[in-house]
Amino acid sequence: MIRRLMQTLLLPGKIRPWLMADECGCLNGRLALTALPRLAAILGCADGEVAVALSAGLDAQGTRFIKGHLQTEVEWICQRCLGPLRLLLEVTVSLGLACDEAAVDQLPDAYEPLLVPEDGSIAVADLIEDELLLALPQIPRHDDVRECEVHGYLQPAEPVLDLKNRQPFAVLATLLQDSQRSH
Ligand SMILES: [Zn+2]
Repeated sequence: MIRRLMQTLLLPGKIRPWLMADECGCLNGRLALTALPRLAAILGCADGEVAVALSAGLDAQGTRFIKGHLQTEVEWICQRCLGPLRLLLEVTVSLGLACDEAAVDQLPDAYEPLLVPEDGSIAVADLIEDELLLALPQIPRHDDVRECEVHGYLQPAEPVLDLKNRQPFAVLATLLQDSQRSH
C-alpha cells in the first residue's frame, strides 16, 4: 500500500522511514509551499512548489538512509535593499535513520540524523520543511549589489577617518574638569 502510494506523484502525508528503507522506497513528486507553514511564516508568502526526489535504502555499512534532492524557488526580502529577492533553494538530503540518541552518535558523518522510532512514522511535510529551513541563508540578499541599486539601494560612501580632529584626551580632560567641578 505504502509502496504504491510512493510511486504516484502525489506525496503521501506520512511515511514510515524504517519500512521505506527496507523496501528501498522512493518519494518523488511536488509539494505546495502552502503545506509548509513554518517556512511560509518566515518568507511571508507561500507561492510555488517544492520538487521532491528522495529515495531510501540500506548502505554498505548497514545504515538505513533517506537521500536525494529538494528544489524550490522562493520569494524573500533582500536585507540590503528591502527589494524582492528570488532565491533558488537546491538542497541535498542525506539523512541516516536513528531510533534513539545512542544510535545518533553511531551514525557516519556523511549523514544528518533522522531520529524516529523503528515502528514510527513522520509527516513528509515536516521532513521537507526542516531541510528547507536549514538551507535558508542567514542574511538573504541579492548576489550582485547592482540588483539592489535597481531597487533604490545607494552604496554608502566610505567613511573618512579624520584623525586630526580626533582628540580623545581632550574629551577625557573635559570629563575630569567636570568631575572636579562637581566635588
Ligand atoms: Zn537587494
